[in-house]
Amino acid sequence: MTSVSLPAYAKLNLTLDILRKRDDGYHDLQMVMQTVELHDEVTVSLSEGDGITCRCGEIPGDESNLAVRAARAFFEGAGVAPRGLDIDIEKHIPVQAGMAGGSADAAATLRALRRLLKPDLLGVELERIAARVGSDVPFCVRGGTALAEGRGERLTSLRAAPEFHVLLCKPDFSISTPELFARVRISELWRRPDTNGMLAALHRGDEEGVLSRVRNVFEAVLPPEYREVFHIKERLHALGAEATAMTGSGPTVFGLYRDYAAVRDAYIILAEEYEQTYLTRFV
Ligand code: ATP
Repeated sequence: MTSVSLPAYAKLNLTLDILRKRDDGYHDLQMVMQTVELHDEVTVSLSEGDGITCRCGEIPGDESNLAVRAARAFFEGAGVAPRGLDIDIEKHIPVQAGMAGGSADAAATLRALRRLLKPDLLGVELERIAARVGSDVPFCVRGGTALAEGRGERLTSLRAAPEFHVLLCKPDFSISTPELFARVRISELWRRPDTNGMLAALHRGDEEGVLSRVRNVFEAVLPPEYREVFHIKERLHALGAEATAMTGSGPTVFGLYRDYAAVRDAYIILAEEYEQTYLTRFV
């Protein structure tokens, strides 16, 4: 076997809470994360020589690409001699959107390299390597429904969430994650998620309980120039969504639906209003 292709699934935050600012400057987070079917397609092929080439649509395939950084981290962390690689990424996940697209590509690269070069490498070892690439990469390696703590790298797998349909909408701007964190004053945060309530609802398989607890505390610190996020939330509610929130540090907004006909009809309308509108589901 010299080539492996894998889907690199995007993620949503069903909850996102910021607990405290740490001495090292990072924040301690508490997030319930969920994999969705929207994915990039990552193909990793062994090649002659010892260089790594990467094609990633419009995004540079140089050393800044998270897939390339993941490959380097794999060789270092798994004790495998570096070798030539060709990484081909077909992008479908919107970029800088709060959906961990780059982290998903990194995770798929790690899983492909394990399959190609070290099939007996344990999952915990792969997640340890993943954490060195980025905070969201361990979750992207594991997938499903999970509680992520610390910077996002400390994971607890949860019972799979109810199978909701998802309508995603990315407005035509990006939000800088550091800029949002800089606006956070922990004592002034309001409308924080009820994470324990969400965990209990997931455990019970309680659809209403999950829907009513979807929340992202970053919405409370969004500067006025990003108010379109709230407009999209209102549109989604008007179009029948049973819960809405921004994912990660945004700006993508999602709506959850139980009924396929409802989400399909909403998709047709919203796609007329926003170019980057996607219909997907939990996986
Ligand atoms: P998160 O949800 O983890 O905050 P995001 O969805 O906001 O992530 P990404 O799409 O992962 O953001 O991209 C963030 C930045 O990372 C982009 O500016 C991009 O240039 C860079 N990047 C590096 N590698 C990749 C990749 N393989 N795919 C997408 N972006 C990448």
